[in-house]
Amino acid sequence: MLLHEFDVITRYFSQTFPDRADVIFGIGDDAALCIPPKGMQLAIAIDTLVAGVHFPPTTAPKDIGYKALAVNLSDMAAMGATPAWMTLALTCPPDTNENWLADFSSGLRELAEDYQVSLIGGDTTTGPLTITIQVTGFVPAQLALYRHGAQPGDGIYVTGTLGDAGLGLASIQQQFSLPALAQHQVESRLNRPTPRLQAGQALRGIANSAIDVSDGLVADLGHILAASQVGASIYLDQLPLSTVLREQLSLETAWQLALSAGDDYELCFTVPQHQEKLLSKVLMRDSYTRIGLIEASLGLRCFDANGQAFIPQTKGYQHQFNLNSN
Ligand code: ADP
Ligand code: MG
Repeated sequence: MLLHEFDVITRYFSQTFPDRADVIFGIGDDAALCIPPKGMQLAIAIDTLVAGVHFPPTTAPKDIGYKALAVNLSDMAAMGATPAWMTLALTCPPDTNENWLADFSSGLRELAEDYQVSLIGGDTTTGPLTITIQVTGFVPAQLALYRHGAQPGDGIYVTGTLGDAGLGLASIQQQFSLPALAQHQVESRLNRPTPRLQAGQALRGIANSAIDVSDGLVADLGHILAASQVGASIYLDQLPLSTVLREQLSLETAWQLALSAGDDYELCFTVPQHQEKLLSKVLMRDSYTRIGLIEASLGLRCFDANGQAFIPQTKGYQHQFNLNSN
């Protein structure tokens, strides 16, 4: 059946997403109208997922919908913001079938409902499968978590465990062969990352810098170090590794993934010593781990349990541009 752009919007996107009182007019006019809450700043983030670049072409449409929102909510978490509204620019091939659209929108809706995020507008076009979601959230004035602000003497922390999504991708690409349950666990970490929104909001006024780990710990902690003009040491035996990583990989391979693989969407943040007690009150004890120390000396140093330096093999993934000037 041939579906017109407007039919697609009406069928799959205009209804059944969460309603919010601060949305005066959502889908159906030239722009959405919303009311920003008093005393709050708006936090705005956008992320694009391109098929074959940001997710394997075999990824289930439900997971694509879920992940497209999750990566944006992770940016909200890293700013200490509470998400509220999203827009969706969806480009899909003309032969996309209805099941694909239904599944994509249900995966997207599932996460939108968890955090009461309204879908207030978007754009629908045909072309190679590409999903762009823009999210707007709120953060109390003066309490946003920036990448800058880390100081020598601060502890470096991460939520959750690192390297699972990287192992998920590597095993889909058949670089590792895992038992079925382990495979399922790491694939679900890749396809359905958990945005650490509660943690991000709890860290307001406690952490002095934060970022979400989308491109690998070394790359993303590197952004905190550059923005804060400081260096760091991290202690590899402190890195939080899941049971799957510990049981299925050599320690060195697990560290390598934890340091360099992307897509974990955990938070990495720094906390001054005098705030550490408070930190232990706002986050559950086993939900986060101290992995190192901010230092004045620039650069990132990694040490194993014997104090030997360890050089991670790669940096996080970077898109390359081949710019020309005409
Ligand atoms: P315009 O031509 O004015 O840009 P469109 O025809 O693209 O408007 O879209 C019509 C309405 O549907 C707008 O309110 C737009 O925000 C919304 N919309 C379009 N595509 C999507 C989508 N994929 N998800 C949610 N809303 C959408
Ligand atoms: Mg349009």
